[in-house]
Amino acid sequence: MKICRFIHIGKSLNNKRKTIYLSPPHLNGKEINFIKDAINSNWIAPLGPHVDQFENEMAEYIGINYATALSSGTAALHLALNVIGVKSDDYVFCSDLTFVATVNAIKYLDAKPIFIDSEESSWNMCPKSLEKAFKKYHPKAIIVSDIYGQSADYNSISEICNNYQVPIIEDAAESLGAEYNDRKCGSFGDMSILSFNGNKIITTSGGGMLLSNNQDYITKAKKLATQSKEEAIHYQHTQIGYNYRMSNILAALGRAQLKSLNNYVDKRRSIFEYYYNNLKDINDITFMPEIKDGKSSRWLSVILLKEKTYDDIGKPIKVFEKEGIETRPIWKPMHLQPIFFGTPLYHNLLNPLSKDLFDHGLCLPSGSSLTNNDMDKIIDILIKEINGNN
Ligand SMILES: *Cc1c(COP(=O)(O)O)cnc(C)c1O
Repeated sequence: MKICRFIHIGKSLNNKRKTIYLSPPHLNGKEINFIKDAINSNWIAPLGPHVDQFENEMAEYIGINYATALSSGTAALHLALNVIGVKSDDYVFCSDLTFVATVNAIKYLDAKPIFIDSEESSWNMCPKSLEKAFKKYHPKAIIVSDIYGQSADYNSISEICNNYQVPIIEDAAESLGAEYNDRKCGSFGDMSILSFNGNKIITTSGGGMLLSNNQDYITKAKKLATQSKEEAIHYQHTQIGYNYRMSNILAALGRAQLKSLNNYVDKRRSIFEYYYNNLKDINDITFMPEIKDGKSSRWLSVILLKEKTYDDIGKPIKVFEKEGIETRPIWKPMHLQPIFFGTPLYHNLLNPLSKDLFDHGLCLPSGSSLTNNDMDKIIDILIKEINGNN
């Protein structure tokens, strides 16, 4: 019996090896004092001084006039569409290569998404495919996602949308801290959204924000987020609202995290560079490009493994998993999601680029707390795996 117990303990010790996650929260040590302040002041509510200051500080960082802190990025998308007046059966164009939250928000309003493929220089929305879609549909709004820390081509996209007089909602959930033409991501939409989910570059555990230079949009969004409560001492309502505001405690957490944002962007960019320098000479690997005139935050370091080596990206992912390392495929494109089958997709290349990227893309651990030792281990495993497979 004793021997068995020892064997068991030995095993469980082995299993306690540190897992290397894709993009875990990275605390800077300042959070606890901010949260203490929120608790000591007794502002334990979905409003309060930290909420106001988090909104002001983030708006200033992005270079936008107005912002409202919310319970999630998804809530921000839902409210943005609402404020623009998207209704049942309206068309809304959106990126095909994105996280499902983008499309879910469209569906909450019973509107009809139309998917737009990616282009090669940014992996974000392809302006040529967008033009094609405009020849057929008159959407009420368009949601452009900036994926993996990279800005979309707003030079072209904004011009097209201006021509057709359709407002842009910029989904910058993955690209806080990134830049394009010396402007921050989150400043390119008529409205823009951010996410502070646990895996994003800074986190409030869960949360989001809606930003705009149009004060009317933000005033309306704030009211909708507060059950559409009218200015009256009794509870009076003239429209359906939601409970979407951010807690003062989480806003305090966000303010502490915001102090490290620039450092975290630098760190994520240096992680990408480290992978790049150590893997660029391997024949079968290419890297996510950086858009011209843009500065990616490299929220995730993403590589493509060529077809010759892998027809199933699940294989290297399993190898990493056995070593306690979390890697992921690229977002599964929306046109391949069973729930959205039959939704039109506009693409400019013969085959949708989004599917190609999905078939060959691998997201490597990219958290700003990642160590050089972690990266060396990941690089070794990848090189061994590729050589063994050739
Ligand atoms: C994370 C994410 C969202 C949703 O944000 P939540 O805060 O998790 O609701 C929306 N769009 C994209 C592209 C995302 O990556």
